[in-house]
Amino acid sequence: MTERVELSEVAPRDGLQSIAAFVPTETKIAIVRACWEAGLRRMEIGSFVSPRAVPQMADTGAVLKAAKQLEGLECTVLVPNRRGFDLAVQAGADRLGLFMSVTESHNKANLNRTREESFADLAAIVRDAPAGTKIRFNLSCVFHCPFEGVVPEAEALDWIERVVALDPEMEIALADTTGNAAPDQVRRLFEAAHRAWGKRFAFHGHDTYGMGVANVVAAWEAGCRIFDAASGGIGGCPFAPGATGNVAMEDVVWMFGRMGVETGVDWPKLLVAADLAAAVPGATPGGAMRRVTAARQAA
Ligand code: ZN
Repeated sequence: MTERVELSEVAPRDGLQSIAAFVPTETKIAIVRACWEAGLRRMEIGSFVSPRAVPQMADTGAVLKAAKQLEGLECTVLVPNRRGFDLAVQAGADRLGLFMSVTESHNKANLNRTREESFADLAAIVRDAPAGTKIRFNLSCVFHCPFEGVVPEAEALDWIERVVALDPEMEIALADTTGNAAPDQVRRLFEAAHRAWGKRFAFHGHDTYGMGVANVVAAWEAGCRIFDAASGGIGGCPFAPGATGNVAMEDVVWMFGRMGVETGVDWPKLLVAADLAAAVPGATPGGAMRRVTAARQAA
Protein backbone atom coordinates (compact mmCIF):
# COMPACT_ATOMS: atom_id res chain seq x y z
CA MET A 1 0.00 0.00 0.00
CA THR A 2 1.37 3.40 -0.95
CA GLU A 3 1.84 5.77 1.96
CA ARG A 4 0.31 9.23 1.71
CA VAL A 5 1.19 12.54 3.26
CA GLU A 6 -1.06 15.58 3.74
CA LEU A 7 0.61 18.86 2.84
CA SER A 8 -0.64 22.29 3.85
CA GLU A 9 0.62 25.27 1.86
CA VAL A 10 1.45 28.26 4.08
CA ALA A 11 3.08 30.72 1.66
CA PRO A 12 0.00 32.98 1.45
CA ARG A 13 0.11 33.55 5.22
CA ASP A 14 3.38 32.61 6.95
CA GLY A 15 5.37 33.25 3.76
CA LEU A 16 4.01 36.69 2.92
CA GLN A 17 3.38 38.06 6.41
CA SER A 18 7.06 38.79 7.04
CA ILE A 19 7.41 40.97 3.93
CA ALA A 20 7.48 44.61 4.97
CA ALA A 21 5.61 46.00 1.97
CA PHE A 22 1.98 45.12 1.35
CA VAL A 23 1.75 42.36 -1.25
CA PRO A 24 -1.09 43.16 -3.69
CA THR A 25 -4.22 41.06 -3.26
CA GLU A 26 -4.01 39.88 -6.89
CA THR A 27 -0.52 38.52 -6.27
CA LYS A 28 -1.71 36.60 -3.23
CA ILE A 29 -4.63 35.16 -5.17
CA ALA A 30 -2.30 34.20 -8.05
CA ILE A 31 -0.08 32.25 -5.62
CA VAL A 32 -3.08 30.53 -4.05
CA ARG A 33 -4.32 29.55 -7.50
CA ALA A 34 -0.92 28.29 -8.70
CA CYS A 35 -0.55 26.11 -5.59
CA TRP A 36 -4.05 24.74 -6.08
CA GLU A 37 -3.28 24.01 -9.75
CA ALA A 38 -0.23 22.08 -8.57
CA GLY A 39 -2.58 19.81 -6.59
CA LEU A 40 -2.27 21.28 -3.09
CA ARG A 41 -5.65 20.98 -1.39
CA ARG A 42 -4.95 22.52 1.98
CA MET A 43 -3.80 26.08 2.45
CA GLU A 44 -3.28 28.74 5.10
CA ILE A 45 -4.90 31.66 3.30
CA GLY A 46 -4.31 34.50 5.73
CA SER A 47 -5.26 35.65 9.16
CA PHE A 48 -8.05 37.70 10.70
CA VAL A 49 -5.86 39.83 12.91
CA SER A 50 -6.06 43.55 13.53
CA PRO A 51 -5.05 45.31 10.26
CA ARG A 52 -3.27 47.89 12.42
CA ALA A 53 -1.07 45.21 14.00
CA VAL A 54 -0.51 43.20 10.82
CA PRO A 55 -1.31 45.34 7.76
CA GLN A 56 0.03 42.58 5.44
CA MET A 57 -3.04 40.47 6.21
CA ALA A 58 -5.67 43.23 5.88
CA ASP A 59 -7.08 41.66 2.69
CA THR A 60 -7.53 38.11 4.03
CA GLY A 61 -11.30 38.34 3.43
CA ALA A 62 -10.77 39.04 -0.27
CA VAL A 63 -8.14 36.31 -0.67
CA LEU A 64 -10.37 33.82 1.14
CA LYS A 65 -13.29 34.69 -1.10
CA ALA A 66 -11.21 33.93 -4.19
CA ALA A 67 -9.72 30.78 -2.64
CA LYS A 68 -13.18 29.44 -1.86
CA GLN A 69 -13.92 29.34 -5.59
CA LEU A 70 -11.27 26.65 -6.02
CA GLU A 71 -12.76 23.16 -6.06
CA GLY A 72 -11.76 20.92 -3.19
CA LEU A 73 -9.50 23.43 -1.43
CA GLU A 74 -9.60 23.46 2.37
CA CYS A 75 -8.94 27.05 3.46
CA THR A 76 -7.42 27.67 6.86
CA VAL A 77 -7.40 31.14 8.40
CA LEU A 78 -5.42 32.04 11.51
CA VAL A 79 -7.33 33.78 14.27
CA PRO A 80 -5.80 35.33 17.38
CA ASN A 81 -8.99 35.71 19.42
CA ARG A 82 -12.74 35.29 19.46
CA ARG A 83 -13.37 38.31 17.29
CA GLY A 84 -11.09 36.88 14.61
CA PHE A 85 -12.72 33.49 15.05
CA ASP A 86 -16.20 34.89 14.48
CA LEU A 87 -15.06 36.92 11.46
CA ALA A 88 -13.38 33.87 9.92
CA VAL A 89 -16.44 31.65 10.45
CA GLN A 90 -18.66 34.33 8.88
CA ALA A 91 -16.27 34.61 5.93
CA GLY A 92 -16.57 30.86 5.34
CA ALA A 93 -13.12 29.60 6.38
CA ASP A 94 -13.02 25.79 6.37
CA ARG A 95 -10.59 25.51 9.26
CA LEU A 96 -9.64 27.94 12.03
CA GLY A 97 -6.04 28.15 13.10
CA LEU A 98 -5.44 29.10 16.75
CA PHE A 99 -1.94 29.83 18.01
CA MET A 100 0.13 30.42 21.11
CA SER A 101 3.71 29.75 22.16
CA VAL A 102 5.10 27.09 24.44
CA THR A 103 7.54 29.64 25.89
CA GLU A 104 6.52 32.63 27.99
CA SER A 105 8.90 35.15 26.40
CA HIS A 106 7.90 34.34 22.83
CA ASN A 107 4.21 34.40 23.71
CA LYS A 108 4.67 37.82 25.31
CA ALA A 109 6.70 39.15 22.37
CA ASN A 110 4.34 37.77 19.74
CA LEU A 111 0.95 38.11 21.42
CA ASN A 112 1.60 40.60 24.20
CA ARG A 113 0.18 38.36 26.89
CA THR A 114 1.11 35.49 29.14
CA ARG A 115 0.72 31.86 28.11
CA GLU A 116 -1.99 31.37 30.72
CA GLU A 117 -3.97 34.31 29.34
CA SER A 118 -3.64 32.99 25.79
CA PHE A 119 -4.53 29.45 26.80
CA ALA A 120 -7.62 30.51 28.77
CA ASP A 121 -8.97 32.46 25.78
CA LEU A 122 -8.18 29.78 23.21
CA ALA A 123 -9.62 27.05 25.43
CA ALA A 124 -12.89 29.01 25.64
CA ILE A 125 -12.94 29.40 21.85
CA VAL A 126 -12.46 25.66 21.35
CA ARG A 127 -15.13 24.90 23.96
CA ASP A 128 -17.69 27.27 22.40
CA ALA A 129 -17.01 26.40 18.75
CA PRO A 130 -20.08 25.00 16.98
CA ALA A 131 -19.93 21.21 16.59
CA GLY A 132 -18.13 20.21 13.42
CA THR A 133 -15.92 23.31 13.27
CA LYS A 134 -12.48 22.23 12.10
CA ILE A 135 -9.76 23.69 14.28
CA ARG A 136 -5.99 23.50 14.05
CA PHE A 137 -4.25 24.45 17.30
CA ASN A 138 -0.72 25.69 16.52
CA LEU A 139 1.84 25.55 19.30
CA SER A 140 4.79 27.81 18.43
CA CYS A 141 8.36 27.45 19.72
CA VAL A 142 7.84 23.83 20.73
CA PHE A 143 11.51 23.02 20.17
CA HIS A 144 13.45 26.25 20.33
CA CYS A 145 12.71 29.83 21.37
CA PRO A 146 14.51 32.94 20.12
CA PHE A 147 14.67 34.22 23.72
CA GLU A 148 14.91 31.09 25.86
CA GLY A 149 16.89 28.76 23.60
CA VAL A 150 16.22 25.03 23.45
CA VAL A 151 12.86 24.20 25.03
CA PRO A 152 12.98 21.42 27.65
CA GLU A 153 10.97 18.45 26.37
CA ALA A 154 9.02 18.13 29.62
CA GLU A 155 7.82 21.72 29.29
CA ALA A 156 6.77 21.17 25.67
CA LEU A 157 4.92 17.96 26.57
CA ASP A 158 3.11 19.69 29.45
CA TRP A 159 1.66 22.27 27.09
CA ILE A 160 0.84 19.68 24.44
CA GLU A 161 -1.02 17.68 27.08
CA ARG A 162 -3.09 20.70 28.10
CA VAL A 163 -4.02 21.41 24.48
CA VAL A 164 -4.81 17.73 23.82
CA ALA A 165 -7.24 17.79 26.75
CA LEU A 166 -9.35 20.53 25.12
CA ASP A 167 -10.76 18.29 22.42
CA PRO A 168 -10.33 14.61 21.63
CA GLU A 169 -9.97 15.14 17.89
CA MET A 170 -8.56 18.59 17.23
CA GLU A 171 -5.47 18.72 15.02
CA ILE A 172 -2.44 20.09 16.86
CA ALA A 173 0.65 21.45 15.10
CA LEU A 174 4.01 21.34 16.79
CA ALA A 175 5.89 24.26 15.27
CA ASP A 176 9.59 24.86 14.94
CA THR A 177 9.12 28.60 14.72
CA THR A 178 12.80 29.57 14.54
CA GLY A 179 13.98 26.65 12.38
CA ASN A 180 16.51 25.73 15.04
CA ALA A 181 15.01 22.41 16.13
CA ALA A 182 17.31 19.43 15.81
CA PRO A 183 16.04 16.29 14.04
CA ASP A 184 16.65 14.00 17.04
CA GLN A 185 14.64 16.40 19.20
CA VAL A 186 11.79 16.49 16.65
CA ARG A 187 11.76 12.70 16.47
CA ARG A 188 11.70 12.26 20.27
CA LEU A 189 8.92 14.75 20.81
CA PHE A 190 6.70 13.34 18.04
CA GLU A 191 7.30 9.80 19.29
CA ALA A 192 6.38 10.81 22.83
CA ALA A 193 3.30 12.74 21.69
CA HIS A 194 2.08 9.92 19.45
CA ARG A 195 2.64 7.35 22.19
CA ALA A 196 0.67 9.38 24.71
CA TRP A 197 -2.10 10.89 22.60
CA GLY A 198 -2.26 9.17 19.21
CA LYS A 199 -1.54 10.44 15.71
CA ARG A 200 -3.19 13.82 15.56
CA PHE A 201 -0.11 16.03 15.25
CA ALA A 202 1.16 18.10 12.35
CA PHE A 203 4.66 19.48 11.92
CA HIS A 204 5.29 23.11 10.96
CA GLY A 205 8.96 23.74 10.23
CA HIS A 206 11.20 26.56 9.13
CA ASP A 207 14.46 26.22 7.23
CA THR A 208 16.40 29.07 8.84
CA TYR A 209 19.33 26.85 9.85
CA GLY A 210 19.08 24.48 6.89
CA MET A 211 17.47 21.74 8.98
CA GLY A 212 13.93 22.07 7.61
CA VAL A 213 13.89 18.96 5.44
CA ALA A 214 15.81 16.87 8.00
CA ASN A 215 13.25 17.83 10.62
CA VAL A 216 10.38 16.88 8.27
CA VAL A 217 11.95 13.42 7.81
CA ALA A 218 12.40 13.04 11.56
CA ALA A 219 8.73 13.85 12.20
CA TRP A 220 7.67 11.55 9.33
CA GLU A 221 9.67 8.64 10.72
CA ALA A 222 8.06 9.23 14.10
CA GLY A 223 4.66 8.79 12.40
CA CYS A 224 3.63 12.37 11.54
CA ARG A 225 1.58 12.54 8.32
CA ILE A 226 0.56 16.24 8.14
CA PHE A 227 3.12 18.90 7.22
CA ASP A 228 3.14 22.64 6.56
CA ALA A 229 5.48 24.03 3.91
CA ALA A 230 5.69 27.15 1.72
CA SER A 231 6.20 27.18 -2.03
CA GLY A 232 9.45 28.98 -2.82
CA GLY A 233 10.47 28.62 0.84
CA ILE A 234 9.45 32.24 1.30
CA GLY A 235 9.06 33.88 4.65
CA GLY A 236 11.49 35.05 7.22
CA CYS A 237 11.96 35.32 10.89
CA PRO A 238 11.82 38.70 12.62
CA PHE A 239 14.48 37.43 15.07
CA ALA A 240 16.95 36.34 12.39
CA PRO A 241 17.10 39.06 9.72
CA GLY A 242 17.89 37.75 6.23
CA ALA A 243 17.05 34.19 7.18
CA THR A 244 14.81 32.21 4.87
CA GLY A 245 11.37 31.11 5.85
CA ASN A 246 9.27 28.00 5.97
CA VAL A 247 10.66 24.74 4.71
CA ALA A 248 10.15 24.86 0.92
CA MET A 249 7.16 22.94 -0.42
CA GLU A 250 9.16 21.88 -3.49
CA ASP A 251 11.92 20.38 -1.31
CA VAL A 252 9.37 18.47 0.76
CA VAL A 253 7.44 17.25 -2.29
CA TRP A 254 10.60 16.14 -4.10
CA MET A 255 11.83 14.29 -1.04
CA PHE A 256 8.54 12.47 -0.44
CA GLY A 257 8.46 11.61 -4.15
CA ARG A 258 11.90 10.02 -3.88
CA MET A 259 10.70 8.11 -0.82
CA GLY A 260 7.72 6.75 -2.77
CA VAL A 261 5.21 8.67 -0.66
CA GLU A 262 2.11 9.99 -2.42
CA THR A 263 1.70 13.80 -2.19
CA GLY A 264 -0.95 14.43 -4.87
CA VAL A 265 1.25 17.23 -6.23
CA ASP A 266 2.15 17.78 -9.89
CA TRP A 267 5.90 18.53 -9.98
CA PRO A 268 6.10 20.88 -13.04
CA LYS A 269 3.13 22.87 -11.80
CA LEU A 270 4.60 23.10 -8.32
CA LEU A 271 7.75 24.66 -9.79
CA VAL A 272 5.52 27.30 -11.42
CA ALA A 273 3.95 28.07 -8.03
CA ALA A 274 7.33 28.09 -6.28
CA ASP A 275 8.84 30.46 -8.86
CA LEU A 276 5.84 32.75 -8.53
CA ALA A 277 6.10 32.88 -4.73
CA ALA A 278 9.88 33.33 -4.84
CA ALA A 279 9.51 36.29 -7.21
CA VAL A 280 7.33 38.37 -4.89
CA PRO A 281 9.20 41.64 -4.34
CA GLY A 282 10.68 41.73 -0.84
CA ALA A 283 10.40 37.96 -0.32
CA THR A 284 13.44 35.99 0.84
CA PRO A 285 13.10 32.73 -1.06
CA GLY A 286 14.68 29.54 0.21
CA GLY A 287 14.78 25.86 -0.59
CA ALA A 288 17.13 23.93 -2.85
CA MET A 289 14.99 22.38 -5.56
CA ARG A 290 14.31 25.49 -7.63
CA ARG A 291 18.04 25.65 -8.38
CA VAL A 292 18.50 21.98 -9.34
CA THR A 293 18.75 21.94 -13.13
CA ALA A 294 18.18 18.20 -13.47
CA ALA A 295 14.98 18.45 -11.42
CA ARG A 296 13.79 21.29 -13.65
CA GLN A 297 14.49 19.15 -16.68
CA ALA A 298 12.53 16.33 -15.06
CA ALA A 299 9.65 18.76 -15.32
ZN1 ZN B 1 5.93 29.56 10.83
